Amino acid sequence: MQRIPHYINGRKITDAERFAPVYNPATGEQNKEVALASASRVEEAIGAASAALPGWRATSLAKRTNIFFKVRELLSERKSELAAILTSEHGKVLSDAEGEITRGLENIEFATGLSHMLKGEHSEQVSTGVDVHSVRQPVGVVACVTPFNFPAMVPLWMIGSALACGNTVLLKPSEKDPSTAIFIAEIFSEAGLPDGVLNVIQGDKEAVDALLEHPQVKAISFVGSTPVAKSIYKRAAENGKRVQALGGAKNHMVVLPDADLNMAADAAVSAAYGSAGERCMAVSVLVAVGGIADELVDAIKQRMTGLTIGAGTDVASEMGPLITAAHRDKVASYVAGAADEGATVVVDGRQHQFDSDGFFIGVSLIDHVKPGMKVYDDEIFGPVLSVVRVDTFEEAIQLTNANEFGNGAAIFTRDGGAARQFEFEIEAGMVGVNLPIPVPVGSFSFGGWKSSLFGDTHMYGPDSIRFYTRNKVVTTRWPDPTTSEINLGFPQVS
Ligand code: NAD
Repeated sequence: MQRIPHYINGRKITDAERFAPVYNPATGEQNKEVALASASRVEEAIGAASAALPGWRATSLAKRTNIFFKVRELLSERKSELAAILTSEHGKVLSDAEGEITRGLENIEFATGLSHMLKGEHSEQVSTGVDVHSVRQPVGVVACVTPFNFPAMVPLWMIGSALACGNTVLLKPSEKDPSTAIFIAEIFSEAGLPDGVLNVIQGDKEAVDALLEHPQVKAISFVGSTPVAKSIYKRAAENGKRVQALGGAKNHMVVLPDADLNMAADAAVSAAYGSAGERCMAVSVLVAVGGIADELVDAIKQRMTGLTIGAGTDVASEMGPLITAAHRDKVASYVAGAADEGATVVVDGRQHQFDSDGFFIGVSLIDHVKPGMKVYDDEIFGPVLSVVRVDTFEEAIQLTNANEFGNGAAIFTRDGGAARQFEFEIEAGMVGVNLPIPVPVGSFSFGGWKSSLFGDTHMYGPDSIRFYTRNKVVTTRWPDPTTSEINLGFPQVS
């Protein structure tokens, strides 16, 4: 059985006291296991990252930039190889795996502009003969804890900017699909990143707890489920660390009566069932406004029958399996309970038969869903689309804003005024207009509101430069020493 290692100080380490199984979700087979770090293994990795910090933060911006250009080149060249590894552990279809790597590469491209991003400010003559300038310096050793659903993209969201800013990094990927992180770390090494600057610690709660407690870890970037995000935010703050913790989602797509219903149906199917609904920006609630619901539900239902579900490695597949059998069963339980809650199960994905032991489930569509039903209130994170019917646009906004989560929200309409009102009033961090998955490009930052993000800064883009650096303001004067005198008064400008 293949054993997936840690990557510490440029070395792969497979020894561990505990291991976790890694499955191929398309077959249900466990053909790998991953080493789970103990607190002492984490300590060793923090030691490596701390030792590498002085050298890396002193490395010129020009040399750092060259490494990012090389990483971009190597990752682009080897994209299909990485996508194959990703699909074999996550299950998503190969084109989707390549898509997430491409989106992750945007963050490496952003990092190549680091010398521009790290520019400070300068004011001459703020007082007579006194100048002030500011510099952005690295925060130190940074921990990045990532979820299973984007094993390439989310690590790249974090490590691109964290390294560009001169920090050293401990990446703790999901134990469900851990190989991608090792591949990425090796690419960085091949591109010239010195040993110890980027380390990968495999593990679970024990490893994350050790990172949260260690005084040498100065900042934590986390992406995962809301309960874990919330607890990481609290504990990191208690321990004096800088923290950004992105949580779960329940993204609403509002369709107004004037929208092109075919376009809306295409978008809803793509965004609800792509990657088997295991996307934090998946559309899981469709809000049908006015009298369009019957027609829209029918259009979606028709499109669902044409979807091809199968192994991610099969080029014909449009949707793959879920990550584990337990997760598949949990998703199924929401569909099973929906009718008893008063909703109408229009398409029941549990009835889809698969000729495989993989963790497959078919796509589900549930109509007449309301707040208070589990199918509405919980993040299901599977291929289940709920339809909520409302009479007015105002009701649609109120419903969306009352939801616990605020990651993404989308509106489909031909009315610019309504779209502008939606943008103005909606309580979500990322908004799409006639676009269901509004993941910002790498030159902007990614993040939700409410229970979808705990912290002050969003991830990647300009916010990441603020998160991964400390600002220092330097006040300078070069007076004639002969004019020097004692003055106990508080310094004032003159
Ligand atoms: P998860 O919270 O179970 O795990 C995320 C990471 O935290 C993993 O590395 C895991 O090992 C670690 N972890 C798990 N339990 C822990 C605990 N008790 N203490 C410390 N660490 C712990 O999430 P997941 O199932 O891997 O990913 C799916 C979730 O991530 C969904 O809720 C999804 O919405 C969310 N997500 C959010 C975004 C976003 O940008 N907001 C992006 C991707 C995924």
